[in-house]
Amino acid sequence: MNVHDSEKVVGTLVQEGYRQVETVEQADLILYNTCSIRDKAEQKVFHRLADYKKLQKQGKKFGVLGCVAQQEGEKIFERAPHVSLVCGSASYRKLPEMLTQLGVAATSVLREIPFDKLRADSRPAGESAGLRDDAFLDRARGAKLVRITGLDDRQTDECFETEFTARTNPHRGYITIIEGCDKFCAYCVVPFTRGKERSRTSDSVLAEARQMADLGYTEIQLLGQNVNSYRDPAGKRSFAELLAAVGEVPGIKRVRFTTSHPRDFGRDIVEAIDAVPTLCDHVHLPVQSGSTRVLDAMQRLYSREQYMERIAWIKAAKRDIVITTDVIVGFPGETESDFGETLGLLEEVGYDGIFTFKYSPRPNTPALNLEEAIPDQEKARRLEVLMAKQREVQIPRNRKYVGSIVEVMVEGHNQARGQWIGRTSQNKTLNFTAAAGKSPQSGSYVAVLVTASFPNSLVGEMMSQEEGTKTE
Ligand code: SAM
Ligand code: SF4
Repeated sequence: MNVHDSEKVVGTLVQEGYRQVETVEQADLILYNTCSIRDKAEQKVFHRLADYKKLQKQGKKFGVLGCVAQQEGEKIFERAPHVSLVCGSASYRKLPEMLTQLGVAATSVLREIPFDKLRADSRPAGESAGLRDDAFLDRARGAKLVRITGLDDRQTDECFETEFTARTNPHRGYITIIEGCDKFCAYCVVPFTRGKERSRTSDSVLAEARQMADLGYTEIQLLGQNVNSYRDPAGKRSFAELLAAVGEVPGIKRVRFTTSHPRDFGRDIVEAIDAVPTLCDHVHLPVQSGSTRVLDAMQRLYSREQYMERIAWIKAAKRDIVITTDVIVGFPGETESDFGETLGLLEEVGYDGIFTFKYSPRPNTPALNLEEAIPDQEKARRLEVLMAKQREVQIPRNRKYVGSIVEVMVEGHNQARGQWIGRTSQNKTLNFTAAAGKSPQSGSYVAVLVTASFPNSLVGEMMSQEEGTKTE
């Protein structure tokens, strides 16, 4: 979601006459988009801001956006006095206004200069920038330190809609359908940094999907902290109905959605995937722990049994839907036996991929008051055991594709290896070669014979058009 937030910020500012540049050195204004989900991510922000300090005498201005901005607020000015702007994700609409107050408005001079084509930047930390403009630099050098905050809008019912999103990938685009979170898991900062849950109307989501299809996008990813908690404010469509409707937009070949919360995961989502071929064969369903006792302490709102019920619905589908998850190890009070239950769950579900996290204590969260903290060394050990177990689970799951023909969207070319990089509907990376003289274009869909597998990727050979009948 942070990548998409950066796209929205860049789009809004470009529309106002700002221009994105390639390097920090070229920029007059550096906006740093941040994540505070774990302490490590947050510490990185302050290290990076410290690195920027030496650029201050060149007249550059610095702003902090996103979750760290929301969480730390004006304290950022104390820890990094060279920062002039702190703005949470719900206030991005006001950025142009805030930049004007700061004295870094895009002037009429700036508007006369043609915009550069925006380049891909997949890093969550998005740095966008104004122009190198001598008049601006003189003003900035002479100006006294002005500080602006935009932190008050977390409860807004307006979503930051995306009319000026600068999408960095010309084939796959994101659409945020729901913002914020009302679940308040005991360990998580998101409800504090992103505010209450608020959905966009399904009509506006569909209008954006059609617009994207007209622009040539073929893959759409619907986003939300809990995408399936979506409630159409106009009451027209459920999440599953919206998913199906996006999948039926002419020109759209693939639809993905992330992240689904198990409590709100209904059978109708699986039925939609079965019914609409453009919906991808992949569900990301974070479990966090295999122990009901730990799930209760985490306030996850479901038991292991209820989670497994959802898994059974997914496995009963006509299509072979791949399941991935998130797991936290070392939550306070997690015993060796609880951890063993998580290891057992990996095998029982047969995940195709997991994101693993060591529990990280976060400000304001109820888990801070829990006793029986797990020492960091033990968390690290559990993390390694977990990853080794998942590797064991993943190897045969990937091996089963060897010999089959799958359709991939071409994402790029690895010159050094002489391979193209593709992604399957199941969200697997498939590196493939093509016959001499063949050069598939990025964004195209081709059929590939899978010839080998690794724990995290597949390898194959592109089929000729006559051979390439889809069999997955
Ligand atoms: N809303 C999604 C859900 O409930 O499954 C997850 C969104 S959260 C931004 C992404 C992941 O970060 C979570 O699934 C969790 O595994 C991890 N996470 C969140 N807070 C954490 C914390 N305090 N320590 C470690 N991992 C954390
Ligand atoms: Fe965080 Fe829980 Fe909300 Fe997910 S559901 S964003 S983990 S509070």
